[in-house]
Amino acid sequence: MFERTAERLSGMVQIPTVSGKGNEALYEIGRYKEYLAQEFLHLFGSAERIAIGEALLLRIEGTDPKKKRPVLFTGHMDVVPVDEAAWKYPPFSGAIVDGCIWGRGSQDMKGPHCALLSALDELLKEGWKPEREIWLYLSCDEEIGGQTTAKAAAWLKKMGIHFAMIFDEGGTICENFMGLVDGRAALFGISEKGSLEYRFTAFSSGGHAANPQPNSAIVRLAELMHDVEKEDLFIRKLSDGNCAMLKAIAAYSEGEKAEQLKKAAAEDAPYPTLYQLTPEARNLLGGTIAFTMIEGGTAMNVMPKKAVLTANVRVASVEGEQAVTKKLQALAKNHDLICELVDGVDAAPESRMDTEEYLAMKRSVEQTYLGLPIIPFVLGGGTDSRHFLDVTDQVLRFSPMHAAPEQGRGVHGDNESAYIKDVQDAAKCYYELLKNQL
Ligand SMILES: [Zn+2]
Repeated sequence: MFERTAERLSGMVQIPTVSGKGNEALYEIGRYKEYLAQEFLHLFGSAERIAIGEALLLRIEGTDPKKKRPVLFTGHMDVVPVDEAAWKYPPFSGAIVDGCIWGRGSQDMKGPHCALLSALDELLKEGWKPEREIWLYLSCDEEIGGQTTAKAAAWLKKMGIHFAMIFDEGGTICENFMGLVDGRAALFGISEKGSLEYRFTAFSSGGHAANPQPNSAIVRLAELMHDVEKEDLFIRKLSDGNCAMLKAIAAYSEGEKAEQLKKAAAEDAPYPTLYQLTPEARNLLGGTIAFTMIEGGTAMNVMPKKAVLTANVRVASVEGEQAVTKKLQALAKNHDLICELVDGVDAAPESRMDTEEYLAMKRSVEQTYLGLPIIPFVLGGGTDSRHFLDVTDQVLRFSPMHAAPEQGRGVHGDNESAYIKDVQDAAKCYYELLKNQL
């Protein structure tokens, strides 16, 4: 089973699907979809296809859809751009060398996608008929915000389709997680931080630079930034999911370290044990803010009438967008600035870890990868699943595929690659999940 994995994934990598403005020549999404349809004949031959722009929904009929609610597997076909000169093998060569498939997307996420589609194709070839409906969403623009995904979610909502679980990318099987787990572990993403864009605008009367007035637009923005750096803006608190993560790591650890982890999960602010355990403690304990753009002024000798500062906030579920917006607006007022929330999504609610579908994935991983620790965690970045929160009860952000540390760095970086064996194992895990567990 899954003998053709390397060839298949190599073919997927060879068709560039780089999304975003200016990349049109490397965005062969039509050809890519044709390739998938040819390569996964049994899947594409039997599933109902619904086109949402360039994206695709696939529905596999269930024999007893009333018994169990449907599930959706979401994944993206597009990839991020490359810096070709830095690659050992050309990024769209799909070179098969040293037991690996090399190229953009081999990890994120043509590799995991190849595994999932291979499992479904194999099962359908064998005459498998799922009890519940199985849905797939193949996104065309995840890497640039997933606008089409919002349309797909709206369509599903209009059709009255509601999922018990959405399986998305996010966590993988990685090594030495946060410096706390020795060796490999499967990371089940149960939530993700939100990402919010704020704009601060300062106005002042302007005038000649030879006659500067105090509290100019630029100075007031600088004062705001100074305040934010000086005072911690966010509530520092472990969420239930983060506690579960520490406890899970403790369960797979021994001796002193296990005790420390349990202690960290039980303690309150200021979390001394957690800070001792990991330098990533601060990110676990709430939001972050980064000032990313600033503009103002028109000439060296003119006081600006207006200056604008942009901040990116990663908001955690323990606090949420509304509370953060209130704080930033109050702070802005202190410096006579206007604060606006321009765009973004709030932190996702934490999924339950005791649902039938969560446990089904857990068992599938346990069967495929004997003895592998399974750790729930909260993602720092966003996934496509945020668009689907209205049409599902739960989300699990996890691809059952291993990535070696250097392969993890290849995601959105140079020299992305995947081991053939790792893609095959991921396919086996999906096969187990779909056939025996879901
Ligand atoms: Zn991805």
